[in-house]
Amino acid sequence: MKMLNKKCINSAFRFAVKPCCTLLSLLLLLTGCAAGRDTAPVSRTGLYFDTAVEITIYGMEEARANELLSECMDLAAHYDRDLFSAYVPTSLLSSLNRDCVLSVTHASDPDFLRLLEMSLDLERETDGAFSPCLGGLSMIWNFTGDPPGPVPPADEIRQALTHTDSSTIRIAEGAGQLLSFDALPEAGDFTFMTADDPGAAAGSDPVFTAADDPGAAAGSDPAAGGDDGFLITLTDVGLMLDLGGIAKGFAADRIKDRLLEAGVTSAIINLGGNVLLVGSKPDGSDFRVGIRDLESAADAGGTEHITRTVTLSDRSVVTSGTYERYFEEDGVRYHHILDPATGYPADSGLVSVTIISADSATGDALATACLVLGQQKGQALIERLPGTEALFIAADGTETRTAGFPAE
Ligand code: AMP
Ligand code: MG
Repeated sequence: MKMLNKKCINSAFRFAVKPCCTLLSLLLLLTGCAAGRDTAPVSRTGLYFDTAVEITIYGMEEARANELLSECMDLAAHYDRDLFSAYVPTSLLSSLNRDCVLSVTHASDPDFLRLLEMSLDLERETDGAFSPCLGGLSMIWNFTGDPPGPVPPADEIRQALTHTDSSTIRIAEGAGQLLSFDALPEAGDFTFMTADDPGAAAGSDPVFTAADDPGAAAGSDPAAGGDDGFLITLTDVGLMLDLGGIAKGFAADRIKDRLLEAGVTSAIINLGGNVLLVGSKPDGSDFRVGIRDLESAADAGGTEHITRTVTLSDRSVVTSGTYERYFEEDGVRYHHILDPATGYPADSGLVSVTIISADSATGDALATACLVLGQQKGQALIERLPGTEALFIAADGTETRTAGFPAE
């Protein structure tokens, strides 16, 4: 029997799991040169986040656009391999999962903590349907294996479910030192700020204090400009983070930031179906984004059938689908979006959820969460959130849209 042991888990991630490409669930209905007035669009593709990344810049001189596209691909590589990949052993995420402790500074790694905190907020917002703590479960389900599966024994799932409590994640301010795994604090040795008390982080009092060595906590390095950073600790050593449900959206947002800063007014960022639009087409009209139909997805590798399209500008369009990654066993299909309450693939009756939102990280997490919540609870959640719209497609083909979801 596989044990949910930290070392096993990490070696499994490192050696056993071969990344495979997810299918694109959103397709762009590109209009080619018609989109650009004076200059042709310039595109670049790459393979990051275990999926195809394609970025297209419109209305910009080719050499400058190519320079920017190189920067964007470097950003995608950075967010995937340096920060959020669960498969690259040297990423910050792998290192935190392995060592249970990670020191990050404002200056060098501001985005790791930013996405972790955003994920914890979204976990609360979605009543736990989106959980950043499902790394152990994802590992035993082995959806990314070659071949994927098999279905894990029920007792392993039960065991993994006992290591998904985000309140065991501690985020301590002002600790610019890395503790080794063996030096993990015992209760009473440290005063921690808990992750669900973000207010404490804003306070000026030191919230991380080594009881035996008060000097260590106070020891800010003047050379670092007073940036003591944060210490993230997994006090449950069996807990493993998995940010696969949000990291692509977050990376798309940061790439958009870079393009805007460089003066781009029209672009499409597509990270494996997470589509983030920069502005509108150069002629001022909306982009058209196609949402791939479930049937064509089931017929992987076959012809794409785009049965739904949305036309819009400057927004994020993200789809989560049960058909993106799955395996079959004894005639039953097991897909990769897990219900954090049961440890099994979500069984909400939905096969896909498309979220339109301003930022893509939020849209990404909400799409995953709604697939778990189901149409009714999902719709209630999205209707509470201003500027966010959703399209739900059920297994029987029934389609439900929130009021502001753009018509075709
Ligand atoms: P997405 O394609 O954005 O829906 O994300 C699916 C990925 O998110 C999976 O491959 C897992 O890595 C992770 N995941 C699965 N279930 C959940 C969940 N309930 N909450 C957050 N992340 C999840
Ligand atoms: Mg998602």
